[in-house]
Amino acid sequence: MNDILPPESAQWEWFETKVRSLMDRYAYRNIRTPIVEPSALFIRGLGEVTDIVEKEMYSFEDKLNGEQLTLRPESTAGVVRAAVEHSLLYDGGKRLYYMGPMYRHERPQRGRYRQFHQIGAEALGFPGAEMDAELILLADALWQELGLKDVQLEINSLGEPDERKAHRAALIAYLEGNVGLLDEEAKRRLYSNPLRILDTKNPNMQALVENAPRLIDFLGEKSLAHFNSVKAILDMNGVAWKFNPRLVRGMDYYNLTVFEFVTHQLGSQGTICGGGRYDYLIEQIGGRPAPAVGWALGVERVLELLKEQRSVQLQSAPVVYAIVPDAVALPVAMALLQKLRGLGVSVQMHSPAVRGEGMGSMKSQFKKADASGAQYALIFGADELARGGVIVKPLRDGGSQQVEHPIHHVADWAGTLQSIA
Ligand code: ATP
Ligand code: MG
Repeated sequence: MNDILPPESAQWEWFETKVRSLMDRYAYRNIRTPIVEPSALFIRGLGEVTDIVEKEMYSFEDKLNGEQLTLRPESTAGVVRAAVEHSLLYDGGKRLYYMGPMYRHERPQRGRYRQFHQIGAEALGFPGAEMDAELILLADALWQELGLKDVQLEINSLGEPDERKAHRAALIAYLEGNVGLLDEEAKRRLYSNPLRILDTKNPNMQALVENAPRLIDFLGEKSLAHFNSVKAILDMNGVAWKFNPRLVRGMDYYNLTVFEFVTHQLGSQGTICGGGRYDYLIEQIGGRPAPAVGWALGVERVLELLKEQRSVQLQSAPVVYAIVPDAVALPVAMALLQKLRGLGVSVQMHSPAVRGEGMGSMKSQFKKADASGAQYALIFGADELARGGVIVKPLRDGGSQQVEHPIHHVADWAGTLQSIA
């Protein structure tokens, strides 16, 4: 689990602001659900025989009432629970998005942490392929907005439950014929959840997985038509996609369209975003049956990729640094700084590091002002204050002169400070 400190946290805020603006343009509304949910929600929602439920959940017993709880490993189940609990779909479908920390007990490595952050978009109550496509277009627009390159879209269709059943039988027969090549986990999952085996990260099993029966060959006309509609919309929008018949995703709740955005630039943790349709989850969690589709992206991985590809210059500096030669001026100075902030100016006040030794020399205060990156120093000198003035000294553009301003005209010159910054 990582601390996210300044100045790096500025990248996070920059990214989150971009996402909020984009979500607004696609009419997705923010939803915030608790970080802790009953364990049963994830066990039922994600599927018992999945990596997350089998070995990655942070679960504990509430000591006060014995309830089994889990730190959310993902947010779709929680969003669906909230939608059901509050009857969000009573007047039609809802487009929602969230941001926040998720928890999975994994082996920490680059791009894989135990507390990590996801941003997700979910469209609940819409059955059409156009909504699968809208969500993919939304993610694609985000990569463009961020200036990310070399992100490939992989898509597949998992079909419907009855189609999966036929595939399952063929898959089990195939795996039984190759039982010597299965690792312990795969052997365990052979009859409980064979599709999961296709999602293995074991490099020794990749050839086996490559040659396994493909789900797509078991899909009926309707499922294929849905898949083709998604692809047609992507094509018309110039979004390149690659059909990956092995793509199954890590949770059991998916059906029909599944997709991932992957990059080669992050080593083996190359999936930056994944999602798909989950038309049966709402009913499974206790709601009236309603279709849904969504995705989640890994914030750490996206920011890491951004760092690999381009440097985003973020200026996090105040506009004004207030220099106070003598502590007696503090009440007047701080009242003026409050006014400036009220007018929208970013202000950092000098505060000495040692107690009882005054405000520090002018030299040391100017040094701090410089290091802060501020555009201007405001100097609350005793002589100027006595006649109702304060000095504004430009710190950045070399030659320009300091000017004394009347304190009571602060609103006038605050405007000019802002526009230059
Ligand atoms: P992976 O196959 O890499 O384990 P996943 O299929 O478990 O990923 P999802 O549950 O689909 O991942 O989560 C969506 C996205 O969240 C992933 O594509 C990835 O970018 C990010 N993500 C998942 N787990 C982690 C983690 N432990 N640390 C950082 N990011 C993660
Ligand atoms: Mg995983």
